[in-house]
Amino acid sequence: MRDVSESAAGMRQAMHAGAPQHGDEPGFHESANNGLLIASLAALVVRLARMSLFEGKMVSGTSRTHGSPVGLGPDDRRAMSAISRACLVQGLPDHGAEIHDLLALCTRPLGEWLTLPEVVQAGLNHTVLIHADDGIPTAEAEELAAGFTGMTAAIEEQLFARFVDVLSRHPEGQANTYYTKVREFVVRNPVCNLDEFKVGLTDEVPARLWMIIQREFYEAVPTGWCIDGTVPICDHCGNAMKKGRAALVCRTAACVASHAARSSRSVAASSVMRVARGIRQYWVEPGIDELRLYDALRASGLPAELYPFRDRVDIAVGDTGIDLKAYVSPETLGQKFRRSIGGLAYYPQRLLVVPDWQAASMPSYLDRLSRAMGRDDVTCLTVSQALARLRSKESGYA
Ligand SMILES: [Zn+2]
Repeated sequence: MRDVSESAAGMRQAMHAGAPQHGDEPGFHESANNGLLIASLAALVVRLARMSLFEGKMVSGTSRTHGSPVGLGPDDRRAMSAISRACLVQGLPDHGAEIHDLLALCTRPLGEWLTLPEVVQAGLNHTVLIHADDGIPTAEAEELAAGFTGMTAAIEEQLFARFVDVLSRHPEGQANTYYTKVREFVVRNPVCNLDEFKVGLTDEVPARLWMIIQREFYEAVPTGWCIDGTVPICDHCGNAMKKGRAALVCRTAACVASHAARSSRSVAASSVMRVARGIRQYWVEPGIDELRLYDALRASGLPAELYPFRDRVDIAVGDTGIDLKAYVSPETLGQKFRRSIGGLAYYPQRLLVVPDWQAASMPSYLDRLSRAMGRDDVTCLTVSQALARLRSKESGYA
């Protein structure tokens, strides 16, 4: 995978600015298509991220032509024009005028800069479209962009294409086991010396998969991650720490949300690898809470399975399927499950579980989630509620 830019700031620097040239194609009519405004902005973010992640192209403010494949296409211009128009109508600065400024704003909560009625109505005040450290779209940006016309395969699909391809050459049961082993390993080891694990893991997964782990899932740790010459490691999740305002903070947002920062060891940057940025976003970030729940279930003696059937659901316990999601906006998450419950459909008991820290971040999170989802075949719970329910179910059987 090409790590074209290190961060959202890097992404911006990698782009070179051009004059804003809004096309005069017919765009959105505010009155009729307000709901599409945010979807089109999210789709813009996802399109540009895909270009930078997979095609290694810079994002440029100039127009794309046959001679110059880098630049903005008509869809991008339309999305920017729509933001400009909405801003002007609301008396806000013209945030759609310049692509680099717009992308920089997308690393901040929408409510801080795009104070439009449709943002508030859709419960998107706290939603961030681009992960500030990784410079790639958040899960919520992808959800908001889903179904927007002109969107092709999800970034996640492209990111894991070779992994999935290699797995598919093995018998079903074996492929499922490999999938879980690899993903669990990566989540538990966001920064590590791969050589230390090589002997153990190559016994358990085929060499071809090991190669993908080495070449696609991990990359060198940049020297910029060093603090006083070494990389401090988080005691809770094993990720690298960075300098915060007052002290070190873990680079995993889900870890910061539920633990006080603590680091008792540092490693030389040259001795370790770090998880590549796409993998960090799709596996490691959500994986912290998934593994915490999984470990707690196992510790209670429950037969929990992690990522069964190659991620049909996050965790299964007998006939209960569990998906764990940490979305800032309960409305966006509810919409996602209103559209489709995905692999939960395979299980008679279905739980949509939200980390306690996420549910506590705003009043009535679970109620708003259930309302937005609008279905009674999935139960919404916090992680601790889910644990209590599954433990008592187990003791009921005993
Ligand atoms: Zn951590």
